[in-house]
Parts: sequence; C-alpha cells; structure tokens
Amino acid sequence: MKIAVLPGDGIGTEIVAEALKVLNVLDLPFELETALVGGAAFDAHGHPLPDATLQLAKDADAVLFGAVGDWKYDTLDRPLRPEQAILGLRKHLGLFANFRPAICYPQLTDASSLKPELVAGLDILIIRELTGDIYFGQPRGRRIATDGHFPGAEEAFDTMRYSRPEIERIAHVAFQAARKRGSRVTSVDKANVLETFQFWKDVMIDVHADYPDVALDHMYVDNAAMQLVKAPKKFDVLVTGNMFGDILSDAAAMLTGSIGMLPSASLDKNNKGLYEPSHGSAPDIAGKGIANPLATILSAAMMLKFSLNQPEAAARIEAAVSAVLSQGLRTADIWSEGTQRVGTSAMGDAVVAALTASNTTLKS
Ligand code: NAD
Repeated sequence: MKIAVLPGDGIGTEIVAEALKVLNVLDLPFELETALVGGAAFDAHGHPLPDATLQLAKDADAVLFGAVGDWKYDTLDRPLRPEQAILGLRKHLGLFANFRPAICYPQLTDASSLKPELVAGLDILIIRELTGDIYFGQPRGRRIATDGHFPGAEEAFDTMRYSRPEIERIAHVAFQAARKRGSRVTSVDKANVLETFQFWKDVMIDVHADYPDVALDHMYVDNAAMQLVKAPKKFDVLVTGNMFGDILSDAAAMLTGSIGMLPSASLDKNNKGLYEPSHGSAPDIAGKGIANPLATILSAAMMLKFSLNQPEAAARIEAAVSAVLSQGLRTADIWSEGTQRVGTSAMGDAVVAALTASNTTLKS
C-alpha cells in the first residue's frame, strides 16, 4: 500500500503528523513517502506542485494531504499560488468526486452552533463535483483597462460550464452512494437562474432513470443553505457542483461542531483517492499546537476504506476517535465547559492509545 504523504503548509504539517502516528500503530504494510506541496514547495522549488510531487501522487495507491496556503503568497501570480497545487492534483489525478460526510458525534452535540436536537444523530453525505464548474471553466480573466494595466482592470470574469459526461459520472456516484445509505439524493442547483444548472438538473433526471430504487429531489442552492441550518437531518445524500459544494460543505462542517472534525475523500473513477481534512491551512493558529487533527485522522480512515480495502482498520480508527471524545478530550475548537482541553499532539496520542487499547481488547 503505497501512500504519498503531502503535509503542505500551516497546520497541514501538524495534523498530518498525528494521522501518521495513527497509521503507524495499525501494523499494516504501508509504504509512506513524503513530498513538499503548496507554499512549502514554492519556497523550495519555485512551484506549488513540482513534477516530482505530482509523479509521487500518480504512482501511489492513495494520497494523504494536509492543507496548503498562507496569506504571504497572496501577491504571487495565480498559477504559482499554493492553492493551485490542490487544484492541479485534482485535475491531473482525475479526482472528480468529493465525499464529505458530515456526522455529528453524540459527544459533540454541544459544540455545534445549532441546537443539540437539530444535530443529534446527524449523518449526511455531501458529494461535491470537483473538476468542473466555474473553477475550471474557460475563458477566465480580467479585461485590461484602457490604460493597459491589470491593476486598473474594469472587469473580471470566470465561466461556469459543465459537460454532460461530467454531470453523468457524478450523478452515478451519488445514486450508488445513496444505495448504501438511506436511498435518497437531493440534487442542489440554481436552475431557476443559471443555464448550466438547468442542464445539471436535466442530466440528473436522465441518470435517475437507472436508479428507480433511489428517491431524487431537487433544491435551489439558496434554499439548501437555509435547510442545512434549519433541518439538516432531512438530507441523506446531497450532490452538487464544485462551487456550491465548496460553500455548502463548509456550512455543514459547523453542524458537526467544527471544521476540524470534517474529513474528505476525493476519488477518481477507480476509487483511487486523495484524502484531506475539509479545512485549510489555518495560518491564524499554525505553529501553536492547537489545531484539531481529528478531520485528518478520519480522512486517513476514509483512505483505508475507499482506496486501500481495509474497512476493519478504518472502523477501528473511527471507534478510537469516538472513544477519545467520550473520554472528554477536546481541542480548542470543540472545547466546552466540563471537558478537558488538549493540544494537537496530545489528541493524536490519545487516539493512538485508544487504538492500542482496542487491539489489546481484541487479542484478549
Ligand atoms: P481555514 O479552513 O484554513 O480556516 C478557517 C477557520 O477555521 C480559521 O479560524 C481556522 O483557525 C479554523 N480551523 C481550520 N482548521 C482547523 C482545525 N483543524 N482545528 C481548529 N481550527 C481550525 O480557511 P481560511 O482561513 O479561509 O484559509 C486559510 C488558507 O487555507 C488560505 O490560504 C486558503 O486558500 C487555504 N485553503 C486551503 C485548502 C486546501 O488546502 N484544500 C482549503 C481551504 C482553504
């Protein structure tokens, strides 16, 4: 099992270190190779996604990714900015399906910004299309101002577009995922205003014909944002485009208590994947040792399940995370009165201890 480890920038290095501690106690034949990506790669090699890093990711069975970005790179030309590394990896590896399960652990209902009764037992799956939409549409750019300079540009534009095959393949992924859960798909669009999303809706309906056992409904994205904070448990699988998915999944993160709890998997058509927490590099807390590593640890569990065919090891990690929360351990982002505040490293150690204890229990 070859895993490319790309920690990246900011808290990326801190949280990936904790996920590696967890993987290392599993006693599975991993081959881990680490490479620079994002701002760290730009500093060392002048590019956020060096060829060697991309090749490592292509050759691996799975990629474990931390996060990239820092405000200090904001003045770089866009192709050189750290965020281009993750966009490039998604594009080059064909990672079109992003799975973001939003699960509210019973121990964390108090950490959610919503009333406990709204989130208790929450288990929804957001599937975001990842390689199309306005993020990759052409043309894009700024119109040069009459004086010929960008700083004085008078207009900027990005093009929203989706092709039929792009929508079809994400629709199949969503319907198949729903079959393994509650058999309901909500397709989120903006068909009332945008041609691209009327087309999205039409193709969703076409593909649905292959899945008569799965219920499909449609919701405008503005209503979906409202429903996610009003009655989130009414969703089962929510499927949407790249930009709406980006925004809605961050909103859903808060239902679970913190964005530091939300793992993600980005998969290609063969279930090879890149696994990363849903959050960014959090420059505001980087280096302080307080970041929550659980989203990354849970992303490693998704990696074992989806790409490495180790569902039992994945379940053990998930149980260990739950055990640690039951012990009352909390990083700052999920801390509440009566619980014990711990740092990044102590949280990782606690998950390792819970895993080791479960192993002892299994053996005895
Ligand atoms: P962010 O997700 O990094 O941070 C948002 C807020 O959540 C911050 O207050 C941060 O402290 C907090 N937070 C995030 N992760 C946390 C964790 N594990 N534990 C505790 N608190 C956590 O988003 P941002 O501040 O908008 O962006 C920061 C940088 O990250 C930018 O350069 C952005 O482009 C980049 N980014 C990268 C990715 C990625 O690598 N896939 C995704 C999103 C943002």
